[in-house]
Amino acid sequence: MDIIKIKDLEVFGNHGVYKEENILGQKFLISVDLYGDLSEAARFDDIESSVNYGEVCQFIKEETQKNTFKLIESLTQHLATNILLKYTKIRKVQVEVKKPWAPVLMPLDTVSIVMERKWHKVYLSIGSNMGNKEKNLKEAIALLEKDKYTKVKKISSFIITSPVGDVIQDDFLNGALSIETLRNPKELLDLIKEIEATLKRERTLRWGPRTIDLDILFYDDEIIARKDLTIPHIELENRMFVLEPMVEIAPYVKHPISGKSIEQLYKEKSN
Ligand code: AMP
Repeated sequence: MDIIKIKDLEVFGNHGVYKEENILGQKFLISVDLYGDLSEAARFDDIESSVNYGEVCQFIKEETQKNTFKLIESLTQHLATNILLKYTKIRKVQVEVKKPWAPVLMPLDTVSIVMERKWHKVYLSIGSNMGNKEKNLKEAIALLEKDKYTKVKKISSFIITSPVGDVIQDDFLNGALSIETLRNPKELLDLIKEIEATLKRERTLRWGPRTIDLDILFYDDEIIARKDLTIPHIELENRMFVLEPMVEIAPYVKHPISGKSIEQLYKEKSN
């Protein structure tokens, strides 16, 4: 990816844990690396296809001055996230906020925070087997779209599938989605749980009926094995109701552990 670099932009702001810092203000030096594809801009020598760095500097200044954070961590994350939300050509950003006048009662050059943030490519599975199933799926997708940090990119067809397990229950309507999100895996899981709660999913029986079920299948190429979160989803390759909609929207996406494509996993499961 190409990079636009802005180094040590000087902005006066009022961030700090001490009251005096909030009142008097101080100098901050802000450096930003903007990652994106600039080949179109270069080819046509056209600023419209690039990102106007003068505008970005102005935006950084405004965002630094209209907020007062206690921590430069918060300012750094705020800048990174808001640059990605405003400038859609930027896929990834690294922000460094330096505080040369940090009140540590000793001489120091600068203290700084560096953060990298980017749009993550994620695949979700979605299912419902209670009430108006199609309406439930559409409502869940609308709630994902409503989230400021998430964009729904592709929606598969919805397929009717028979329930798995011993519980006697209605058929499911299942689908898969591709999204882009600025949320980290834990923040995305929180959003999913919030949406499930909003749509009144009742967690009575483990494999029982549900108004909505949202699962994270892939999150970039990440492999996560935590108590509350397994990515890639542990049951992905065993579930036809996941593979079938996935093969429609992402046949060439590869499982980061086995290296097998969705198409390959789908074919293996079909046999
Ligand atoms: P379920 O009832 O099957 O939807 O399971 C929900 C629980 O599984 C959640 O409380 C999560 O903490 C946990 N979980 C683990 N891995 C995942 C994942 N990849 N996507 C969604 N939930 C997950």
